[in-house]
Amino acid sequence: MSKTFCPIPWIFQAVRNNGDIRVCCQANVTPNQGVVRHPDGTSYNAGRDSFDEAKNAELMKSIRKNMLDGVWSEECGRCQQEEQAGLESRRIYELKAWDYSLTDAKRDTLPDGTITVRSSYFDLRFGNLCNLACRMCGPTDSHTWYEQWAEYHGSNKYQDTHGEVELKRNEKGRLYTADYDWHNSESFWEQIEKNIPYIQHVYMAGGEPMMIERHYEFLNKCIGSGHAGNITIEYNTNMTSLPPRVLEMWKQFKQIRVGCSIDGMGEVLEYQRWPVKWKQAINNLNKVDNLPDNVTAWVAFTVTAYNIFHLPEFMLWKLKESGWKKINSSPQKPIITHHVAHGPKRANIRLLPSELKLKVHNHYDYYKFKVATDPDLNEKIKKKFNKILDSVEKYMMDDDYSEKIPEFIKFTTYLDKARKQNILDVVPQYEELFRTTGT
Ligand code: SF4
Repeated sequence: MSKTFCPIPWIFQAVRNNGDIRVCCQANVTPNQGVVRHPDGTSYNAGRDSFDEAKNAELMKSIRKNMLDGVWSEECGRCQQEEQAGLESRRIYELKAWDYSLTDAKRDTLPDGTITVRSSYFDLRFGNLCNLACRMCGPTDSHTWYEQWAEYHGSNKYQDTHGEVELKRNEKGRLYTADYDWHNSESFWEQIEKNIPYIQHVYMAGGEPMMIERHYEFLNKCIGSGHAGNITIEYNTNMTSLPPRVLEMWKQFKQIRVGCSIDGMGEVLEYQRWPVKWKQAINNLNKVDNLPDNVTAWVAFTVTAYNIFHLPEFMLWKLKESGWKKINSSPQKPIITHHVAHGPKRANIRLLPSELKLKVHNHYDYYKFKVATDPDLNEKIKKKFNKILDSVEKYMMDDDYSEKIPEFIKFTTYLDKARKQNILDVVPQYEELFRTTGT
């Protein structure tokens, strides 16, 4: 098997919140964030450009050629790093999920990397409307970030992949921008409707899909065209809302896969994903756990500097107390589905100073011992538990981002004040780190 081949650049197309077309959401480690561009440097955007043309933009062709040659492209650095750390990268996940092999790719690809393969898998993000402002996100992901982002940076402007975004005040005095409204484009809807008969899988993420009308419009088009029964819809949703209409629509689809963006219990979740309420989230998680068989679900746990100590406690709670039957019931991922936040670096676990990394190590050892001696847990689960902690620890130790500590402290302290929260309530281990800042 090729060590770098991934089916994504052949079968998949991804649209960012601002409509820019990119390689995939994992390919965001370069300054260009994996965005596909015209020769003049402007991004391909789903609001104005053709998916078929974007598919054969120079970046896409070069990534394909590299994969066929067994070479890692810079854009795929995140998968490369995760695989080196023993984590399951998206590349590995997609290789298992899709019946599209290296042999198929060789057959379908011209020497310059051009393809005519139909996309059967889309990542569609209809804007940035979201009710949360998670600490590892920003205004491109959620409009709820605008005020605090502008106040912290002392500016109403920031860069996104399509260019500079300027937030303006509306008549109610709130900051807004129309830069994420690309989905009003008729040409996009014409293109996507033509593709619906061939689509097998659609991934939808934040903004928060449950709040976004265009998401429902898309589901309706799939149902109305008679193709919903062939389509899997996969979400990342923050679990603050599960409207009855979406539950009705889901019954029509082949499969619904719900990645629940939950990375802690109680105040840890409320801290990282402000202003979520744990009680509301747990109610919706319990509802999802009881949905029909065409729905699968998992906890999509994002490991950051804010919840790295909490991770094993959450896993143990999931195993022993959640009572869930459906959520993370697969034999491959029977506890949680975790990933580390690579960016922004100010939330990345690699920024911890060496003495805190050692504390993480000791803390994980304590939980490994606790699980190893628990008579209620079987050996397979114990192994999975250790594997998750080992992979997170290895990722943390593999690099040193401690130059980001001052930014981590400054940003955390600002948000704590703005949100009336306190880092030490959720990570008491950081007392010494924050003592000098007056937190
Ligand atoms: S290897 Fe990873 S980053 Fe590259 S296209 Fe595949 S999933 Fe995306």
